[in-house]
Amino acid sequence: MAAKSQTVLVVEDETSIASFVALYLKNAGYGIRAVGTGQEALDSLARERPDLIVLDLMLPDLDGIEVCKRVRQTSDVPILMLTARDEDVDKIIGLEVGADDYLTKPFNPRELVARVKSILRRSVPERRELQTRQITHGKLEIDAGRREVQVGGEEIQLAPKEFDLLWELLDHRGLVLTRDQLLERVWGYTFAGDTRTVDVHVRQLRRKLGEASPIVTVWGVGYKVAPARDAAPA
Ligand code: CA
Repeated sequence: MAAKSQTVLVVEDETSIASFVALYLKNAGYGIRAVGTGQEALDSLARERPDLIVLDLMLPDLDGIEVCKRVRQTSDVPILMLTARDEDVDKIIGLEVGADDYLTKPFNPRELVARVKSILRRSVPERRELQTRQITHGKLEIDAGRREVQVGGEEIQLAPKEFDLLWELLDHRGLVLTRDQLLERVWGYTFAGDTRTVDVHVRQLRRKLGEASPIVTVWGVGYKVAPARDAAPA
């Protein structure tokens, strides 16, 4: 069961989906507040300060991305986005929008509950956040205590999951990690068939780190970190 008094704000105008999501989360022990528009979501956030928001992308007034951006101006409450379209995924998890995770409709309600639990568990500072470990790999420097990534001395902004994924790979240099292993270690769950989340985050990391990205695809298996190239000036 979830910790007492944790509340999830469900933002979805389709009442059948909203009540289905609410039912499963209630059964998992969460308090639920459900609203059907973006504006109500922002009002509810200010008034009731939920512990997590499940936010549908398609809403009748403000869309989920706009709601997410506005929420982020005042709050770092975890946000799990729901979307019907695969092509929105890169945008949703990118730092510009700031969602913590996403699910594509139709989704399995047990998976929704697993993700909500995982996000809430992670939002409590623990394990690696308390460590002050650093890894240097070529031009890449990662500080797990401060959660900072630098390339050649310049800080790169990563979303929380992108950071965790990069750390996990670097922390296992020399090993190939499968998508399932990465899903379990970084996201805290395994759910058959949705390892695509890992691929999306790897794509974001490669985009943000450019040629400093050490991540190599091992076809049919997963990912690993390439040996560091000489970091000496060119
Ligand atoms: Ca909707």
